[in-house]
Amino acid sequence: MALLDSQQKLTNMIPMNTTNYKSRKLSMMIAALSFTCAFEAAAQNVIIVSVDGLRPSAITSQGAGVLPNFYRFRNEGAFTDDARADETITKTLPNHVSMITGRQVAGASGHNWTSNSTPPTGVTLHTNKGSYVNSIYNVADTAGVGTSMYASKGKFSLFQASYSGEIDSYVNNSDTSVLVSGFTSQLVSQQWGLSFLHLRDADSAGHSFGFGSTQYLAAVANTDNLLGQLLSAVEGNAGLASDTTIILTSDHGGTGTGHSDNTNPLNYTVPLYVWGAGAQAGADLYALNPQRATIKSREVGNLAMDLLNLPSISGSTGNVNQDLSIAPEPSSSILMMLGGFFFIWRRSPRSPRSIS
Ligand SMILES: [Zn+2]
Repeated sequence: MALLDSQQKLTNMIPMNTTNYKSRKLSMMIAALSFTCAFEAAAQNVIIVSVDGLRPSAITSQGAGVLPNFYRFRNEGAFTDDARADETITKTLPNHVSMITGRQVAGASGHNWTSNSTPPTGVTLHTNKGSYVNSIYNVADTAGVGTSMYASKGKFSLFQASYSGEIDSYVNNSDTSVLVSGFTSQLVSQQWGLSFLHLRDADSAGHSFGFGSTQYLAAVANTDNLLGQLLSAVEGNAGLASDTTIILTSDHGGTGTGHSDNTNPLNYTVPLYVWGAGAQAGADLYALNPQRATIKSREVGNLAMDLLNLPSISGSTGNVNQDLSIAPEPSSSILMMLGGFFFIWRRSPRSPRSIS
């Protein structure tokens, strides 16, 4: 889809039948320049929001009338309801480590954090792995970008312990209404370039009453209200309104009152929505990324780095080439085609110039 649209735009931009070769060359250069400029991702502020335990069906079954803010992400941003949690484990803390480090859980290149409990004092991602594990916070801190993490489960102290020098503001509060009002007010005043916001309510209701229960759906609706407060804070601030991107995903879904079976699609299928600067309104992420068989939630870390024009996280594997697109981009075939046109033009006999 993206490729066809781009080719159509290209055809419209270049007057192919003209005998004025100078004009044709100029048109090609303008077309190439337009592609380069129009699709360059640019954000000054990126907020990653993780809605813990969010099944995509909890959004689509309730609809825009009940969940106007989730639907703003879908209608105004690029999205999929078919992103995936880690292949080997569908629990909270390991999947959040994946989002923040850009690594899968298992293997030599994985982060290897499998515990879903609050870590004992002195234990970090690095002591567990036996070597330093880089994250979005290292990359941002090195570049002088301000950072924050606002989390609603105590076990997120793992990140505070692991990146104490790189997270400028770490706040933990299980009351998400207090957490979000604190986050939005500080976001406006601090203007962090990189933030991570974790909202626990859907997961808590799923464990107590069942994922898909009335109480679970109500918790998702309450989360929608919190997202509305976040969107209002961003849109109401001149420093944030035009150049903020919000990436929303989840650590896992759920079925019954749990989510530990990593082979169940209800557990490993999660939403991934990208709203704001750089994101194409209403675009399907799989249509924008035909090279991806599956889009993983662990890609959000390097997507955030890409949007901030920062390098990939050292040692990461998810979206390590920063090629996850959230808007149509010039494909290499189009750039080669432009190069080919230019080459042919350079090699053409000049005599036709005297026609006309
Ligand atoms: Zn859970």
